[in-house]
Amino acid sequence: MSDIDIKAFRSGFNGEVFERADVGYDEARQIWNASVSKYPAVIARCSGVADVIAALNFGRANNLLTAIRGGGHNVGGRALCDDGLVIDLSRMKSVFVDNGTQRVRVQGGATLGDIDRETHVFGLAVPCGIVPKTGIGGLTLGGGVGWLIRKYGMSIDNLLSAQIVTADSRVVTASAFENDDLFWALRGGGGNFGVVTSFEFQAHAVQTVLGGLLLYPREKAVDVIRHFRDYMGMAPDELTAYAALLHGPDGSPLVAVIPCYCGNIEDGERILQPLRKFGSPIMDGIQAIPFPTMQSLFGPSFPDGNHNYWKSTLQRELPDAAISGVVEHANRLNSPLSFVVLEYYGGAAGRVSSEATAFPHRQLPWDILFIAQWTDPAQTDVHRDWARSGEEMLRPFSSNAHLLSALDVEAEDVIKTAFGSNLPRLAAIKKKYDPANFFRVNHNVRVGSHAAV
Ligand SMILES: Cc1cc2nc3c(=O)[nH]c(=O)nc-3n(C[C@H](O)[C@H](O)[C@H](O)COP(=O)(O)OP(=O)(O)OC[C@H]3O[C@@H](n4cnc5c(N)ncnc54)[C@H](O)[C@@H]3O)c2cc1C
Repeated sequence: MSDIDIKAFRSGFNGEVFERADVGYDEARQIWNASVSKYPAVIARCSGVADVIAALNFGRANNLLTAIRGGGHNVGGRALCDDGLVIDLSRMKSVFVDNGTQRVRVQGGATLGDIDRETHVFGLAVPCGIVPKTGIGGLTLGGGVGWLIRKYGMSIDNLLSAQIVTADSRVVTASAFENDDLFWALRGGGGNFGVVTSFEFQAHAVQTVLGGLLLYPREKAVDVIRHFRDYMGMAPDELTAYAALLHGPDGSPLVAVIPCYCGNIEDGERILQPLRKFGSPIMDGIQAIPFPTMQSLFGPSFPDGNHNYWKSTLQRELPDAAISGVVEHANRLNSPLSFVVLEYYGGAAGRVSSEATAFPHRQLPWDILFIAQWTDPAQTDVHRDWARSGEEMLRPFSSNAHLLSALDVEAEDVIKTAFGSNLPRLAAIKKKYDPANFFRVNHNVRVGSHAAV
């Protein structure tokens, strides 16, 4: 990359360009997870589609390894790369709501908080994840699970179209009616196929939900989680709920059940009774709240600047022995910032066939996540070992499958399990749209083979 090349690139670029010596470079290369520290040669913070095309042309002409940054919340740091180019979409975060059709168009760098803020004005919501600073880009391309999943499905089940700039800098629309192979692949195939400059979603009428936290002392954890499991097996689609093993603000170990009921509030009060009456919660914070409030409950649990390492596993069932193992493992936590989350999906998401989108794991409703979070980098090995050994402990119960977007830095064989039986079809579509594997700083589907890296 010559001085002349970069000068020409800068002069034709509308957004911001950062190189190592530039003011703002260090801020621009930060992401939420402090364990990730990468030094790109150029960060191109795009202002729109024309900038994305200019950045892609520049990256290709100079043979630069190229990463795509959406919300910067991929745990393994796939938003960045060392010595290459980062196409940074963080300025492209506009959200347009069509109240009549209840369709929402979102730029590729928007966060979930950006979307909830705009859609709530119209009494609408797009099914996505549960932490406001997460990017809609990486989340949707990985599937997208959250509080509305059982009623309205995953984010990809609500995706109507996407505008994408492919590796040869073409601007392409992918939908059920245009480039439907690409549309299929974008719904669970990760960032392999190009830069998604905007997503169009079907939103739903969700304004106020019945939700919040039920907290119990940790000694009750096995009973509480067993009851939660049995109760969710009979729950209506309007109810999505997770359980978590965490610590209170004073450091006391707790178990939480977190329901979100998105139907009629009076019905919800009745339906949630068995959950709220079980055991003796030390706190029942469940109430009717605006949906964005529900969405922001867990924001403070994931502050910028902590070190993070995640391990997770999808399971068909959650037997008693797995519950006991998870609780024992949580009791060995060595950081009050770490936690275990037991997420239960199913409902509308589970009724979509495994071949309908690139996300194959429709029949595995349990996702158990070991989320290690700490502040002292010298303690990294201890915390990583805790998360790893949690996932290893669950192997006898696991389906050897993973949610793509929950994967940290993983070995090739683990990434393959996220694509599962859909990998050969993904590889064929990758070959069509990105034969040179230009987009490879991701959960990569290798061109020309059925392997993933
Ligand atoms: C605190 C936290 C909470 C989370 N909660 C949930 C949750 O509730 N539900 C859930 O489903 N997931 C959740 N996740 C996982 C999350 O979906 C993934 O980490 C996802 O990658 C985040 O997207 P991002 O745009 O912020 O990622 P980034 O780190 O910016 O990007 C990750 C990768 O996604 C691709 N990418 C991102 N944007 C684009 C784009 N516009 N075009 C093409 N490729 C793109 C690129 O390959 C990039 O390497 C959570 C993660 C964190 C850290």
